[in-house]
Amino acid sequence: MSSLDDLYRRVIMDHYQKPRNKGKLDEAEGLTINLNNPTCGDSISLSLKVEDGIVTDAKFLGEGCSISMSSASMMTEAVKGKPVDEAIKLAQVFSDLMQGKQPEDDSLDLGDIEALSGVAKFPARIKCATLAWKALEQGVRQANQS
Ligand code: ZN
Repeated sequence: MSSLDDLYRRVIMDHYQKPRNKGKLDEAEGLTINLNNPTCGDSISLSLKVEDGIVTDAKFLGEGCSISMSSASMMTEAVKGKPVDEAIKLAQVFSDLMQGKQPEDDSLDLGDIEALSGVAKFPARIKCATLAWKALEQGVRQANQS
């Protein structure tokens, strides 16, 4: 195992054990998206608050494997405070990463998200990693409609 894999594994376990932005927003405060990944048994409830085109708050509750939960933690951390456009762009970049592609737009700071890039090598786990991002995409789409 390379030291990079080792570093990535440590970042993933850190988010799994100490999830960022864990919780739920009041119904009046934001919208909630519930999604699950039956192939692994992961479930997520993502709360988003979108104001004036900015994701002002993001929280999640969920149960599942270390990949799905750490991905949700990293995602909320990455999109909080960002314009909706940028959050969507990050979701696209993440989807590219999961397909083993290098992101076209390298101006985005992926931060901890990069630690999940190794998941691309394990097709069965990709759905675990993308669950939170799918919830994000649904959430911002709903927010844009209301
Ligand atoms: Zn999973």
